[in-house]
Amino acid sequence: KQHMARGLPKQKPIAGVEQVIVVASGKGGVGKSTTAVNLALGLMANDPHVTVGLLDADVYGPSIPKLMNLKGNPELTDKNLMRPLVNFGIPCMSMGFLVEDVAPIVWRGLMVMSAIEKLLRQVDWGLLDYLVVDMPPGTGDVQLSITQNIPIAGAVIVSTPQDIALLDARRGAEMFRKVNVPVLGLVQNMSVFQCPNCHHQTHIFGADGVRELARNLGVEMLGDIPLHLNIRETSDQGQPVVVSSPDSPEAEAYKKVASAV
Ligand code: ADP
Repeated sequence: KQHMARGLPKQKPIAGVEQVIVVASGKGGVGKSTTAVNLALGLMANDPHVTVGLLDADVYGPSIPKLMNLKGNPELTDKNLMRPLVNFGIPCMSMGFLVEDVAPIVWRGLMVMSAIEKLLRQVDWGLLDYLVVDMPPGTGDVQLSITQNIPIAGAVIVSTPQDIALLDARRGAEMFRKVNVPVLGLVQNMSVFQCPNCHHQTHIFGADGVRELARNLGVEMLGDIPLHLNIRETSDQGQPVVVSSPDSPEAEAYKKVASAV
């Protein structure tokens, strides 16, 4: 679907990129990066003609290199732009390609934003229908400046159904609304765990919290991703579930999210 980004005067589009979709969360560890990767792959799986890129804006803890099984330094083009690293047909850019993964970076506020600016704009993205951005967790200055600097077609907010995560997810939704970024909807992650032996289902973090929050906020619930060993294992192996087990119910859950954005 085509979303109209209501551009602010300060916002400058990214060359070659049609729509920017940000994947955000209030809290860390709720599955934001895993969702961003599988959403990007899901967009392609649903329509092979669509071109999708992936930007890791989580400069504090970049996980795209591992999730997409990529490492190395981007080459420079003759226009002095960085060439994204590509796997599974998706050009990716991450701070993780530019620094040693063991070296801790002490970030100052302004440095973070200028790093993200470089990752967004000094990259030869080619022509993309979608650029999926894995945002840093939370609702601080960095998230705000991203939303103020680029026109964003919409935000997808990931949360577990646990109260403490929902509270922060709501804050995230409110932040996007304040800056006129359409909230495309919420993704509920890790709601149900099915025991592989006895098939009993357990709602470890609660059952329907995200659905209720979505109703409360008047936005869509885009999908419901189970807590599943296959998702964790394929993520750790850098073989995201949408490409490594495309016909599994877990992959279908992500593809459903992709078809809803
Ligand atoms: P965030 O980006 O919000 O910090 P991640 O996507 O890195 O979260 O996920 C945190 C951890 O949880 C990772 O180890 C990931 O593999 C795992 N994980 C995320 N979603 C699921 C899921 N639905 N089932 C199983 N493990 C998951």
